[in-house]
Amino acid sequence: MYDSIIVGAGIAGATVARRLAEKSDKKVLVIERRNHIGGNCYDKLDDYGILIHEYGPHIFHTQDEGVREFLSRFTEWYDFGHEVVAKVGEQLIPVPFNLNTLHMVYEKEKADHLEKKLLEAYGEGSRVPIMRLRENPDEEVREIADYVYENIFLYYTMKQWGQKPEEISPEVTGRVPVVISHDNRYFKDRYQGVPLHGFTPMFEAMLNHGNIEVWTNTDCSDVLTFVDGKIYFEGEEFQGDLIYTGAIDELFDCRFGHLPYRSLDFRFEHLNQDSFQNHSVVNYTVSEDFTRITEFKYLTGQKDTEGTTIVREYPFAYTGAEGEIPYYAILEEKNERLYEKYRKLTEEYPHFYLLGRLAEYKYYNIDAMCRKALDLAEEIG
Ligand code: FAD
Ligand code: UDP
Repeated sequence: MYDSIIVGAGIAGATVARRLAEKSDKKVLVIERRNHIGGNCYDKLDDYGILIHEYGPHIFHTQDEGVREFLSRFTEWYDFGHEVVAKVGEQLIPVPFNLNTLHMVYEKEKADHLEKKLLEAYGEGSRVPIMRLRENPDEEVREIADYVYENIFLYYTMKQWGQKPEEISPEVTGRVPVVISHDNRYFKDRYQGVPLHGFTPMFEAMLNHGNIEVWTNTDCSDVLTFVDGKIYFEGEEFQGDLIYTGAIDELFDCRFGHLPYRSLDFRFEHLNQDSFQNHSVVNYTVSEDFTRITEFKYLTGQKDTEGTTIVREYPFAYTGAEGEIPYYAILEEKNERLYEKYRKLTEEYPHFYLLGRLAEYKYYNIDAMCRKALDLAEEIG
C-alpha cells in the first residue's frame, strides 16, 4: 500500500516525504507521534492570538540556494537579519561579539587600538571561535578573549550544557564566533528570516500532496516492529523504504542505555504591555537561571497583536522521563561511540535510513537538515 514510510514530520521527514512523493511517484506514509506536524519548527497562535514557536525561537537561515528554492515553493518569506543582544550588567551588547560590541565595552581610544590589532591578526570579516581567540599569543588580544569568554560564553554555556566552554565540543561554541566586522547579525548567511505566515503553514503545504498521507498522534512503535532483519507494518512485512527521524536509542528500547541529551523547559508568559524588551532575543550571559528570552512579535513581524508573549528557556539534563524532549545531542566521543552501537543494529534492515537531528545524533540547523533530506530522496528515489 505504501512505498515509503517516514517516522517524524519535522523538516527532515516532511522534505523527504515531498520529494519521494512528487519526484519518484512513491506512496508515502508519514507517522508523527505529536498532535501536529513541523517537528521542532512548529508554530501556532497562542490564546492571545500571538504567533509563538512552541519549541523555541526558529529562524531559517541558509547559503544553500537549492534549499531556499525548494522551501520557497511552499512559503513566502519575512526576511530580516536576525540580531541578538546579551544582557551584561546594565548593558545590552551585540552577540556575536563584534567590532561594534568592542566599542561598547571599551572606551574609544582603547577600542580603536584593539580593533586595529584584531584586524591585523585575523583580517576584516573573519569569524574567530572564542576557543581559538583565547590562544592568541598577543596579551591584548587575549584580554579581549577573556572578556568575551567571561561575559558571553562561560555562564551561558554552564547553564545550557552543565559544562564549561572548554569541556564541550568546540563545534558548539564555534557556532557563535567573534566576528571581526561591524555586522551585528547573529548569522552570516545570505538568506535569513521566517516563513511569512509561519512555519506550520509551510509544512502543511509541503505535505499537501496526493501521494502523501500523514498520521499524527501515532508513535512508530504503535504500527512498526523490527524483528530479525525484517520490518513489519501493522503486522505485515514491509519491504519499502523506512526513513526514521526519531531518537535512535528509543527505536531499540534503549537497550544499551539512554543516549545523553540536553533538554529545555520553555516557560511562556503573556504580558498586557506593548513590548517587553525591544529585541527578538536577549541572551542572559552573566545572570539568571534561564539562557534567553524571546519576544515573538519581533521575530515573526506580527503587527496585529494586543500585548506581547515571551518565552524563557531553562536548560536541563534529559532523563528520558515521560514528556521530556531530547533537544540537543551532546557531542562527545563516548556518546558518539554509544550512538554507533545503536546505528550498527540498523544495518541488518535493508532500505532503512536514519535521517535527522535525533536519528543522526548531530547538531543540524533547519537548512542542513533539509539539504540532507533532499539528497537522501535523490539517492533512494
Ligand atoms: P525534529 O524537528 O525534532 O522532528 C522529528 C519529529 O519526529 C518530531 O516531530 C517527533 O515528534 C517525531 N518523532 C520522534 N520519534 C517518533 C516516533 N517514535 N514516532 C513518531 N514520531 C516520532 N535551526 C535553525 O536552522 N534555526 C534556528 O533558529 C534554530 N533554533 C533552534 C532552537 C531550539 C531551541 C532547538 C532545539 C533547535 C533549533 N534549531 C534551529 C534546529 C532545528 O530545530 C532542527 O534542525 C530541526 O528541527 C531538525 O529537524 P528534524 O526533522 O531532524 O527533527
Ligand atoms: N553561546 C554562549 N553565549 C551566547 C550564545 C551562545 O555561550 O550568548 C554558546 C553556548 O554554548 C551555546 C552555543 O554557543 O550552546 C551555540 O549557540 P547557538 O545560539 O547556536 O545555540 P542554539 O540556538 O542552537 O541553542
